Amino acid sequence: MHALLVIDVQNDFCPGGALAVEGGDSIVQPINALMAEHDAVILTQDWHPAGHSSFASRHPGKAPFELTEMPYGPQVLWPDHCVQGTQGAAFHPDLDSDRADLVIRKGFRPAIDSYSAFFENDHATPTGLEGYLKTRGIDRLTLVGLATDYCVNFSAVDAAKLGFAVTVRQDLCRAIDLAGSLKAAQDGMLAAGVTLV
Ligand SMILES: [Zn+2]
Repeated sequence: MHALLVIDVQNDFCPGGALAVEGGDSIVQPINALMAEHDAVILTQDWHPAGHSSFASRHPGKAPFELTEMPYGPQVLWPDHCVQGTQGAAFHPDLDSDRADLVIRKGFRPAIDSYSAFFENDHATPTGLEGYLKTRGIDRLTLVGLATDYCVNFSAVDAAKLGFAVTVRQDLCRAIDLAGSLKAAQDGMLAAGVTLV
């Protein structure tokens, strides 16, 4: 069984959004077209309470895209984005979200961020997605979405570590690319056994 895992195709990550990824909206239609080729479609949705600890606005003297140290390790500070219930947190209006078997929300705990669809950024707190996939007999995953070097990357590496056969369609992802983060992500995914196409 082969699932399509669509990472964070939300308004705030698309042009005009609070944390816009260049070209983020250009992947929406081809992702819709790919849904029919898979046994299951799963969407992730970044879903933060207002004032989330990953927001630079919560850290006096810090600006967006600076690093800080959290109890669970280094954390990039972001502009306020994907606040629960806002238009920015909604899926891109053209994404065929009706096709999804499952929507998995992440980043809803105030004190911890969650890039990966499988574990929060402490790399220990599970989201439950692993159990869902395994109990449905899904062993292959194709990942698409936003952004290549953060949420797609962390999800792909975790999926490979959990034993799934993982492919990332780089043509259907877009990157933030902070200080070489895209190259580092590609190297990390390859080292984890992820297939990049
Ligand atoms: Zn976020």
